[in-house]
Formats: sequence, C-alpha cells, structure tokens
Amino acid sequence: MSAPTPMMAQYLALKAEAEDCLLFYRMGDFFELFFEDARVASGVLDIALTSRGEHAGEKIPMCGVPVHAATAYLQRLIKAGHRVAIAEQTETPAEAKARGGSKALVARGIVRVVTAGTLTEEALLDARTDNWCVAIGEAGGEVALAAADVSTGRFLVIDASADAIGAELARLAPAETIASETGDYTQAATGLRPRADFDSASGEARLKRLFGVATLDGFGQFGRAALAAAGGLVAYLDHTAKGALPFLRPPVLVQAAGTMAIDAATRDSLELTCTTGGQRKGSLLDTVDRTATGAGARALGGDIGAPLMDRAAVEARLDLVQFFHDDPALRETLRGALRALPDIGRALGRLVARRGSPRDLGQLRDGLDGAWRLADRLGGGPALLEQIVPQLRGHGALIDLLTRALVPTPPIEASEGGYIAAGYDAALDDLRDTGAGGRRAIAALEAEFRIQTGITALKIRHNGVLGYHVEVPARAADSLMKPDSGFTHRQTLAGVVRFNTPALHEVAAKVSQAGAHALAAEAAHLEELIAQALAARDRIAATADALARLDVASALAERAAEGGWVRPELVDHACFEVTGGRHPVVEAAVARSGERFVANDCQLSEGSRLWLVTGPNMGGKSTFLRQNALIAVLAQAGSYVPATRARIGLVDRLFSRVGASDNLARGRSTFMVEMVETAAILAQATPRSLVILDEVGRGTSTYDGLAIAWAVVEAIHEDNRCRCLFATHYHELTRLAERCEALSLHHVRAREWKGELVLLHEVATGPADRSYGLAVARLAGMPPATIARAKSVLARLEAGRARTGGLAAGLDDLPLFAAVAQAEEEQCDAIRSAVEAIDVDSLSPREALDALYRLKALA
Ligand code: ADP
Repeated sequence: MSAPTPMMAQYLALKAEAEDCLLFYRMGDFFELFFEDARVASGVLDIALTSRGEHAGEKIPMCGVPVHAATAYLQRLIKAGHRVAIAEQTETPAEAKARGGSKALVARGIVRVVTAGTLTEEALLDARTDNWCVAIGEAGGEVALAAADVSTGRFLVIDASADAIGAELARLAPAETIASETGDYTQAATGLRPRADFDSASGEARLKRLFGVATLDGFGQFGRAALAAAGGLVAYLDHTAKGALPFLRPPVLVQAAGTMAIDAATRDSLELTCTTGGQRKGSLLDTVDRTATGAGARALGGDIGAPLMDRAAVEARLDLVQFFHDDPALRETLRGALRALPDIGRALGRLVARRGSPRDLGQLRDGLDGAWRLADRLGGGPALLEQIVPQLRGHGALIDLLTRALVPTPPIEASEGGYIAAGYDAALDDLRDTGAGGRRAIAALEAEFRIQTGITALKIRHNGVLGYHVEVPARAADSLMKPDSGFTHRQTLAGVVRFNTPALHEVAAKVSQAGAHALAAEAAHLEELIAQALAARDRIAATADALARLDVASALAERAAEGGWVRPELVDHACFEVTGGRHPVVEAAVARSGERFVANDCQLSEGSRLWLVTGPNMGGKSTFLRQNALIAVLAQAGSYVPATRARIGLVDRLFSRVGASDNLARGRSTFMVEMVETAAILAQATPRSLVILDEVGRGTSTYDGLAIAWAVVEAIHEDNRCRCLFATHYHELTRLAERCEALSLHHVRAREWKGELVLLHEVATGPADRSYGLAVARLAGMPPATIARAKSVLARLEAGRARTGGLAAGLDDLPLFAAVAQAEEEQCDAIRSAVEAIDVDSLSPREALDALYRLKALA
C-alpha cells in the first residue's frame, strides 16, 4: 500500500485534530471536504460529490465550496447540527517556497471551529434571539450552569439546585450545551469535553486570568460547581476560537431562585417564547413583542422567559413602562429613534472576535451617536430611567474619532480599502491623489495612443495578470507589432492583441504603488480604530444594554396602549384577582376570524384557592386557564396585562399541565408523561405557587382517570395549598366542593338554541348543568345518524347510572386525602413500635413465627 501524499498526510493530521467536526480544508479559492465529511456535506448542501486521487487504494470522495460563499454553506451545515473546523493556509505559497523549495506544501492550521453556540456572523444569527452556549458544571454534588452569548459578550453563571437545572436549560434554550464527558449530564449535552476542562480550581484560575483580577469576589460568590461550569465554558470557547477568545463580559451571577420557577413542561404548554411546534410565531413573546431593535427583542425574550420574584424590581420596570405609556408622543419619538439604530452589541461582538469589518465600526459610531442624542431627549423620569440615561452618554471622544476617520457608509469588506474618510490622514490623501492623478494620466495616454496609432478601438485595460496594458483588435495590431512602434507585445488572444509601453508602465507603476501604500495605510488606521473601540468595550456593551432596556419598556407600553392593557398591582399575599382578563394569543386569533373575545374574571384568594372549571369541550376552559397563567408571567416580567384590573400576589413557581390525549404526538407513553409531570407539581408547588391543570387524568380509563383527578385535587387543596385552576370534564369532581372549603365550582357557559349549541366562552359560578358532548359532536360535523345513535346509547347509560348511583357512587363516604394520609402514618407508627419491641436474640422459633403473624396483621 502506498504512503499518503504529503498533502493527504497533512489533511489527515488536521482531520484528527478536528475530532468530530467536519473539516473545511482551504485550497486556493475553495474549502474542500474529503472522505466521509464530503459524503455528509454533499448530502446536506446538495452539491456534487466528486473524487480526487487515491488513498489506501480507494478513490478519495471530495466536495468543495467556494470561499467567498462559504458563510451560506456554513449556515446550512450548522443548522443541520454539524460543527465545522476551518483549516486555513497559514502562509503564502511564496513563503512556503522560500521555506522548503519549489515543491513545498503550504502550511495549514485550524483557525476556528464553527459551532451553533459560538457564532458572531450576522448572517448566521437570528437578530431577535439570544444565542446561548451553555456549560453544565458539577462539583461536590452540586450543579451549576454557565451561559455565554459571544455575539454580544453576555456571560451568566447560574446557581440552580439540581432539580432546577432542567427548567433553566429550558429557559435559555441553548444553541449548544456542553458537559464533562465523565459527568452525570452527558444526556443533556450536545457536546462532551474533557473532564479536566471542568476542574473548579483551574476554572477559577482561568477566569481570573481572563478578567485580569486577583479575586472573583467582585463578581459575586461563586460555588465550586459554578467555577467548574464557567471554567469549562471558557475552555471550550478558547478551543473553538483557537486561542482568540471571543467577547466575554465579566460574569453575572444569577440566582435561579430570584426568578419565577417555570419547568420545561410548563414552558412548553404555555408557549411562552416558542410554540410547541418550536416556532416563535404564535408564542406569547411573539404576540407581545413590539420592540424596534434586535437587541430589544432579545432582552424581551429574556424577560418573558424569566419573570422576577423581586417586587421592587418588577415595580421599577412597570414604572418605566407606565412613563412611556402615559406619554405617547415621547414613546413614538423614542421608538422612531431606536428603529434607526444599528445593533451595536453584535457589531462589538464581531470586532472583539476579530471578525469585525469597517461596517461594524461605522455601526458603533452611528449607534453610540444615536444613543447620545436619545439621552438628551430623555430625563426627568422614574428611577430606572435615571439609571439608564447616563449609560447612553460618555462615548464622545470615540464618536468624534470614528466620525472623522470613517466614510459615512463603510464597506463590509476591508480588503478593497475606501473606508477611511478624506481629510483624516494627509499622507493617505496624497497617496490617493497620486493614484487618482495616475488614473487621469492613463486616460490621457489612451487618447494620445489613439491619435498616435490611428486605431480608434484602442483601449487601456487592467487585469490581475498583466496590470495596465494596451488592447487593440487583432486586425489592427500589425502596425504595433513592428519593432520600432514603441509598443511591446504581451499577449495574443482570439480577436485582441495586448501590448505594453514604457510610458504606460511608468504611470501604472505609480498608480499601483500608491494604491498598495494607501491600502496599507488604511489597514493600519483600521487596526488602531478597532483598538480604540475595544478599549471601551465594557462601556459600549453597557450602552447597548441600556438601549435594549429602553426598547423593551417603550415596546411594552406600545403593546399595552394597543391592546387596552392595565398595569398590574403586585402584592405579597397569595391572591390572584383579575377582572376582564383575556388571552392575548387566542384573542388575536379570534379577532382575525372577525369575532369578539369574551373577557373573564378570576378571583383566587387564600380562602378560595382552587377553582374547578367544568363545561363542554371547546367551551373555553383551556383558554381561561392559560390566560391567567400568562397574566402572572407578564406581570412579573414587568409588563402591563390584558385585563381591566389585576391584583396579583407574587407567584414563586408556575405549573401548567395538559391531560395526555392532547399531546399524542409525543413518543413516550403519554399517560406516563402526564403522571410524571403531575407528580412533579405535587412534590414542588408551594402556597405561593400558581398551578393550572387541564383535563388531568384524561389519558386513561374513565375510572382510573376520575380517581386520579379526584386524588390530585384533594392533594393540592390539602397539602400544596397553592392557587390552582383545574379544568375537567369529570362532572363527578364537583362533589368535592362539599368537602374542600377553599374549592369553588365554575363552568364555561353554553346554550342550546334552536337545536344548535352556542358556546358563550363565559366563565360563570356553579357547576355546568349538563355535558354537551353530543351537541359538540354535531357542531363538529358528525353525521346526524351517528348522533342519533349516540343519543340512544347515552339514554341507556344515564338510566343505568341513575339506578346504581353513577360513576361517583360511594365517593361521598371516602375520607379526605389528609385523613387517609394520617391513617397511614398511624399504621406505620404501630408497625415501627411493634418491630422495635421484638428482642430478636431471645425469641424461640415459635415466638418468631407468632411475631411475624402479628406484624402481618398490622399491615
Ligand atoms: P376547551 O378547553 O373548553 O375545550 P378551548 O379553551 O380550547 O376550549 O377553546 C376552544 C376555542 O374557543 C378557542 O380556540 C377559541 O377559538 C374559542 N374561545 C375560547 N375562549 C374564548 C373566549 N373567551 N372568547 C372567545 N372565544 C374563545
């Protein structure tokens, strides 16, 4: 078997270094992929799979993408879940020759690993969503998360208990999650990294080095798991950027306990920031979002995903929303100004990652300048505004520098120059004048040559190989071919012949030299300007944050004004009083079909914690339940709410569950999922929590389902004592009202009118008077004959129920849940004391047998 060619050997070494990433191997103007990589990429990208040479006796599969279009291909590979290592040529062919002779292979190295969680390119990111890369750290039995969005430099360290990790991951919805390859969270991760990366002591050292501090205390008190997570994350970012660490601001320590706990299932079922189908469209966030900027949209997504528990902080946000709500003219001015601003947070992220362009500097200039102007128009507002406004100012020198240095709209591509403004650097201006003068001289030469030769079709052209040259049609070339013509032949092509002349050569040399010097001068200025901007990076990032906060507050004010929403009143005791509440997403859908949404009240208090809502299918039960959960989320996120009045006691944990048969699309036994999720509520809900349960128990047989629903309602009422809305079609549950003093009965109203069912979507007190299943079936278009048949079956069943006392016969005598629990506890105590009384060493076999019988009788 022949040894691999030198190039293949280099490729294979790089591929080994790239581990499980696809390797983009730079060859001239292309990135080439080989072997299995080529097969995978050609499939995902739908490009031709070819082959090149042989390796180990087999043809080497190959495909390639042009370098100038690489971003678009990268985007598709990343979207498809791949990671891509980029191997660039690290020296020029000339350098390679000088180093190793004419046959030397150009050196290549991996300069970057492109992964979903480490992107900074505008084209690869969604402007309105954060792009989190998350690391899970473990140490001493504790867990923590670290999250970075390197497109803006945000860096969070999240202290969460082990059972809140899932909820925090669901909140962040990371683009990428990494964990130690030997830890307990390999399942939750999209990528595994060496265990050494997650060592808490070296993590601490890494962070100190990165931020140039002797102690991390200034950032907060980090536990060992937090250090493991943050250290692991920084090590990974370093690995993907190959040493050029992307933008990271100092870490912000977040206590998961400071926000409303919302687990993954609840997030899913309430569709807070994306729908169950994974779309932003149709989610609560989408219906609320009126932000004018990408940064504002990202911040709003963060707020809605993490409603606060700190009443003062919520009130501060609400004060600012109200300030803009009550001043429509100011709001409009502000929103107009924000809309015109570029995304300075992400421009800064690209500059720090060394992927910045002159355009990014131009964006910083315009954004900072716009922020300053905004600050002059805002003032004399609530406390939060007074905090925000100073952050908008303070970049005067930088704005001034960039304004003098850059042209109004700098190009994205730096290599062609043309971004430094005239008048900034006299030497550069001179070089440009020389270049321009030279180009004028060349134009003059062209006219002169035409007269001199009499060839009117003569042109002076420029290309990369010949530089400036004279071109004439082949039929007119003869006179110039003569030795004494003053023209030197360079090239004959079909139809044209090309020449050089000493005069042209001289001017051309001046032009190209001036051009090269001008380019170099511009590049040096660019370097310096970027350095100046980066020196202020933390303050620029703070300005970006301040703009985003203004955008969020004014957008929420806009949304509130648009929808007639009200400022919620927040209190500390466990009440939930909403008058005229609406579901913003359903309301919009209903309005689109030309109908009116019916507003409903909800009054929960310590004495009336649990509402049991019955009524026909499609009557509006789910909508009512969810709208109240959404109102709690919006209120604690600092937003007005869709209601005419709202008074809400802070909610520490929010739970929402939907009976299994609504979620048939899921893989696992849906009933099992329903029960696991319900068990989690019973284990975690506190008296300050809000729980909505929609048709729980539906995923099994009628008897089982009723029994489970019954027991769950009792447990919530007796044990959890949280605020709860429980929708059910088990009419039998209404009997619980007689024994649970804080439970009250409600129903969604419906009426039969001329044989048709009319759903009023109105929540009223008391149990539903009957079930309207058959009427709903007719509404749904079931054939009349089937309905008639169902009617006669129903009549039989009801007659049977009347005779036996019905499905819930006998339930009235059942002791309450708490009583059952007490009895069980007493039984356990009795068994325990009986066991303790046995002196095993002194027992005869006969006595031992007797003891066992006694214990059995107790069980
Ligand atoms: P249920 O849970 O009782 O089966 P849903 O809450 O799913 O009913 O509501 C069914 C449909 O009724 C919704 O999709 C919506 O179109 C309409 N609807 C629900 N509540 C209202 C309301 N308050 N006002 C107007 N239409 C409503």
